[in-house]
Amino acid sequence: MTSSLYQADYIVTMDRYNSIIKDGAVLVDQGKIVQLGKASELIAQHANVPLKSMPNRILMPGLINTHCHSGMLRGTAEGLPVWDWLQQFIDPMHRVLTPEDASLSSWLCYAEALLSGTTCIVDMWRYMEGSAEAAKQLGIRACLVPYVAEHPEHDYFETLDSNEALINHWHQQAEGRIQVWVGLEHLFYAVPKALTRIGDMCRDYQVGFHTHSNESRFDVEKTLERYQIRPIQALEKFGLLNAPKTLLAHCVWADHSEIALMAERSIGVAHNPISNMKLASGAAPVVAMLKAGVAVGLGTDGEKENNNLDMFEEMKVSSLLAKFSNLDAAALDAWEICRMATIGGAKALGLDKITGSIEIGKSADMIAIRSNTPRMTPLIDEGPLMNIHHNLVHAVQGQDVDMTT
Ligand SMILES: [Zn+2]
Repeated sequence: MTSSLYQADYIVTMDRYNSIIKDGAVLVDQGKIVQLGKASELIAQHANVPLKSMPNRILMPGLINTHCHSGMLRGTAEGLPVWDWLQQFIDPMHRVLTPEDASLSSWLCYAEALLSGTTCIVDMWRYMEGSAEAAKQLGIRACLVPYVAEHPEHDYFETLDSNEALINHWHQQAEGRIQVWVGLEHLFYAVPKALTRIGDMCRDYQVGFHTHSNESRFDVEKTLERYQIRPIQALEKFGLLNAPKTLLAHCVWADHSEIALMAERSIGVAHNPISNMKLASGAAPVVAMLKAGVAVGLGTDGEKENNNLDMFEEMKVSSLLAKFSNLDAAALDAWEICRMATIGGAKALGLDKITGSIEIGKSADMIAIRSNTPRMTPLIDEGPLMNIHHNLVHAVQGQDVDMTT
């Protein structure tokens, strides 16, 4: 890898001030951002560095999809609420899934993600040696989380043994782009002894933990029935909030006490508004979580519950759902949503020192978006009607991305 200079009309940095550099440039060396500023100055300083000039483009950090499942059931598992849907469509698929099909699914999903502007993805899936190979070759940053179950009723998933083998083979491979975490389908999918081992594995290997929690009302009711406490309190009781980083998907029905617990324990949340609407799970209390200081990222969930992996669509729907469910047109500011899709997602994964913003020292995970299209017009870059962030949330589509580094 050598140096390159990227020039664009606007650099949306997603730094702490949401700074935008007009007529900007980014100098990248060995895959890292080493300088950014006005294009005229950087070009003059680095006349010998190859210049990638991108007129009519916005350069921004690659999007971070904090919860996804590779898969190939798109459009074939429709019209059911989550627990019925799992039993009728998803479990039978798991029983017949082959390593070859699993690998091909990951190739397809990572390609779809990259083509629509996602440069980092959390994938909970099966036979993930193939997923790791796909991530390595396609160049996406991936956090691989096997679908683990350690329970006699769910003996057709990955196991903690296969999860451990994947950590040993693939964690921090591909120049550190691939992470392997410990996964668990759901708290109910493991016996207590296995739950203890999950905590031990996370600590021993210093890796994160990811599971689904509070996705539906049913989830909360069943946990109360079984343990007399709420789901996130149950995760704590079994030591599952002790990993170096814990990421919980959905949290639709997290109440105030659980939100406070998540904030206190620095738990990351993957918010999946499209999946939550499509499976009729509900609207997650995102505004309350952000207010409490919880790191919230956005996720598409899988191709079977979305039915695409376009994170720009997820950004728009996260805005619409917050406004609609709170009956407040000002709920979830556009900058807040841009942050959830980038640096907020990185924080939820504990990767915010590496990715999530265009800042010196970070990895050059960047995307370019066409800005000279009808749906980006008008594009106003200053004054009270400045609309770049509003267009990024409500107008852009994944197909407007035409470069991914
Ligand atoms: Zn999921």
